[in-house]
Amino acid sequence: MSHPSRRRETPVPYITAWSEERVAVRTLTVRGDGAGLCYRDETPADRDAQGVLWSRLIEAPGCGKPNFRSVHPVRQRRAVLEGLCQVCGGPASRTSRGWLFLLPRSGPAEPSAGWPEGAHCTKPPVCVPCAATAVRYCPHLSEPVAVRVRKPRPRGVFGGFHAPGATGRLASSDDGYLPYGHQHTPWFLASQLVVELRRCTVVDLDAELV
Ligand SMILES: [Zn+2]
Repeated sequence: MSHPSRRRETPVPYITAWSEERVAVRTLTVRGDGAGLCYRDETPADRDAQGVLWSRLIEAPGCGKPNFRSVHPVRQRRAVLEGLCQVCGGPASRTSRGWLFLLPRSGPAEPSAGWPEGAHCTKPPVCVPCAATAVRYCPHLSEPVAVRVRKPRPRGVFGGFHAPGATGRLASSDDGYLPYGHQHTPWFLASQLVVELRRCTVVDLDAELV
């Protein structure tokens, strides 16, 4: 995809989920040994290299309406792992100073010294033209910080726990972060990959746009 989908002149980012991309949760169940979750018709593609089970969502970008508050798990993970721009899905910008990320200026309420070094992020990188577009169209990115990151490393996943309740039916927790290797991983369903930003350099976005 060379350009983001457009509707009413509003670009729809590559990672945005559409209303027809429905979650297929009905096949989620407890493993036969009772030690965690699985899909009744699970395939190797349902888990990542760390053995974490991932949400199933059909891929049908452009179908229905875009839900700008929702991220498609498959496209988010693909963009992070393959260095794709979260807006257009093309190659993200990478220079000797690293991949280009746009972070909300708010970040932590009180940014620690050295922020965003070591910060966790679920947003994939961007290409330079889309950085300009994102700044213009994404209200949550008012006054974003442009950062070059040499070492974005997957450290865990964002999602929720699902465990049998009193009735035996699976009940889900609020969404949160789970680091890779956590002991309760078998009961977690991931929806986004989380990377740790290392070797960061805050850059001047205007200079990047030249
Ligand atoms: Zn782009």
